[in-house]
Amino acid sequence: MRKFLIAGNWKMNNTVQESVNFSKELTSNIAKKDNVEVVIAPTFTALFSVGEQLKESCIKLGSQNIFWEKSGAFTGEISADMLKSCSVEYTIIGHSERRQYFGETNETVNKRIVTAVENSFIPIFCIGESLEERESGKEKMIVKSQLVEGLKEIAKEKLTDLVVAYEPVWAIGTGKTATPEQAQEMHKFIRETVAGIFDTEFADKLIIQYGGSLKPANAQELLSQPDIDGGLIGGAALQVDSFSEIIKIASEIKK
Ligand code: PEP
Repeated sequence: MRKFLIAGNWKMNNTVQESVNFSKELTSNIAKKDNVEVVIAPTFTALFSVGEQLKESCIKLGSQNIFWEKSGAFTGEISADMLKSCSVEYTIIGHSERRQYFGETNETVNKRIVTAVENSFIPIFCIGESLEERESGKEKMIVKSQLVEGLKEIAKEKLTDLVVAYEPVWAIGTGKTATPEQAQEMHKFIRETVAGIFDTEFADKLIIQYGGSLKPANAQELLSQPDIDGGLIGGAALQVDSFSEIIKIASEIKK
């Protein structure tokens, strides 16, 4: 049985104080659920303080990126050791905003995943097609190449934990959501593709999150799909109420 993973990607939002206040409220709002793991990914500046706040809680800390070099002249990047010193356990890699605005490619995504794995972080590996790619019927081809290239030369034995987040770019922050059928079809395809890259046993255990305007109003029908194991959430993760509501909805779904 796979657990749900509900992760909040805060993007470039919240000061340190706002992040700490949010974490306090969230920890007092949600109790540990057997079938749901919760992660929040604040900005780099807030990681340490939020990490302190989350100690003793059931909520895990995630970062929004990780760089492959250990240290040195890499202005604006963040290393594995820096993230470890903030108690980070998950790291979001290859988010479409990184791909779209900051030159992230399948090759750099692969380097970041390798680094995450070598340093025992759980990668939240983001993939997804653009509107143009979907409209021209290329969505599966794109997703498959993102998976194959992103996971290149990573040995299954090293990859104890991996999370894939399927985020159709046209649904991120737009209010448009993939229909449950569209999302399920792609999640099933992702699981089959990962089975081809590694094996069925690995693919059956793989957590595949959906991301793209997930909110309390659509969480039930999306998360009820057999191959949807949680959500990577932007907008609705910025309010304690809506984020907590999605966690509650997930915890009540029986598959
Ligand atoms: C995201 O940033 O990963 C995301 C899915 O954002 P939103 O929920 O706002 O669409």
